Amino acid sequence: MAQQLNPIPFIDLESQRKRIGERMESAIMRVVEHGGYIMGPEVRELEQRLAEFTGARFCISCANGTDALGLVLMGWGIQPGDAVFVPAFTFVSTAEVVAWTGATPVFVDVLEGSFNIDPDSLEAAITAAEEQGLRPAAIIPVDLFGQPADYPAVQAIADKHQLQVLADAAQSFGATLHGQRVGTFGDATSTSFFPAKPLGCYGDGGAIFTDDEALAEQLHSLRVHGQGANKYDNVRVGMNGRLDTMQAAVLLEKLDIFPEEITARQRIAERYNERLHHVARVPELIAGATSVWAQYTLRVSDRASVQTACKAAGVPTAVYYPIALSQQTGYRDFPCVPGGTPVSDQLASVVVSLPMHPYLDEATQDRIVAAVVG
Ligand SMILES: *Cc1c(COP(=O)(O)O)cnc(C)c1O
Repeated sequence: MAQQLNPIPFIDLESQRKRIGERMESAIMRVVEHGGYIMGPEVRELEQRLAEFTGARFCISCANGTDALGLVLMGWGIQPGDAVFVPAFTFVSTAEVVAWTGATPVFVDVLEGSFNIDPDSLEAAITAAEEQGLRPAAIIPVDLFGQPADYPAVQAIADKHQLQVLADAAQSFGATLHGQRVGTFGDATSTSFFPAKPLGCYGDGGAIFTDDEALAEQLHSLRVHGQGANKYDNVRVGMNGRLDTMQAAVLLEKLDIFPEEITARQRIAERYNERLHHVARVPELIAGATSVWAQYTLRVSDRASVQTACKAAGVPTAVYYPIALSQQTGYRDFPCVPGGTPVSDQLASVVVSLPMHPYLDEATQDRIVAAVVG
């Protein structure tokens, strides 16, 4: 069959480009022509649209999802001696930004079902950090693979210990928990518009959401070298953390079709679930959550053979993440919750992600399913 020979992309950005390419190209050309490449009008417009979309009071766009996290920690004045609690099963940025500030990332284990931070492990890590003489300062829950962390549970712990909550929503922008959009949980939320994320631009991009006006004001300053009254008035140490106007223009076009794309992702994930639940452990959502399915991730007992079979059938797979962050060379010397992070370590050896994007048609999906079922 000729169709069998077509390579399947892991994430298909081409179909989306075919759909809205012309509009996107005009939007880019408008920026080329008006010449406001840095902080042009599209940046402000995007921030307004994103704030409306989430329901957050303020949106501050920035250069990427890592800077988004880092800027918030800078805004909060996180410093050496502070402990910032991060899940062990995440992308490197979540802990990296803590180390930037000189504070100590403390690794917390995750829940086996949702892949997200385990509230019991979080409590244990807070107690241990205090015993080690650190000052518990903040928690960075991650919405792994597109599903929100259990924010009500995390917030209760944060309130009890007076900790700030920074939601790392790099993978979950557009998801909801109990009908509330990501971007409105905790004290601040960061996201990423890296091309492969659910809402991606044509390069690097990110944003921060908060209801805290004082923090929003500080973030506006921090992303432009700590500017005060103007660019050449530097009232604090900041960074160059701005989003390009060109990327804002691309995102404005993509945002128009994003709700539809989320629905398509959810339909595709449902279809994977129906067809794969008898051969693998399919993803599980917590009560009240919707996911935007940044990744569709199975747990399998023999990952090597699943990946080999898929490869032979021309089906790409990926492993997010092959090593828990707490075990990475650059991070293993940072403290961990007492007893370590056994769930994260175990997940790292059994997870496998399948192609997932809003333009995955049923025939292609069936081919992927057939390769996994064997
Ligand atoms: C992608 C990602 C980031 C970083 O975003 P960049 O835009 O690539 O800097 C942070 N946290 C998580 C969980 C991510 O998946």
